[in-house]
Amino acid sequence: MNATEDRDQSIPENAPAFDADLHAMPHCKRCNLAYLPNKSTSALKLTYCSFLCELGDLGFSMQGLEHMQRVPKEVPADPQPQLVAAAE
Ligand SMILES: [Zn+2]
Repeated sequence: MNATEDRDQSIPENAPAFDADLHAMPHCKRCNLAYLPNKSTSALKLTYCSFLCELGDLGFSMQGLEHMQRVPKEVPADPQPQLVAAAE
């Protein structure tokens, strides 16, 4: 049987492919870690490894900008009519 020869060939084939993947991986601009862009939680997948690095480097997140809303004005908790104590 030649089954063992076939098996021997398949093992070394996988390793270089994974190695090449590692080299092709971009490095995070902030923490310099190699990461997979499609696993990045950052909106800038090719720049940062994660949302936190994006946030830490920019001071804000692109995702936050997309959903940006005006900071709601402080609403007075209970607008109380001034006439409450008038009647007695
Ligand atoms: Zn990072």
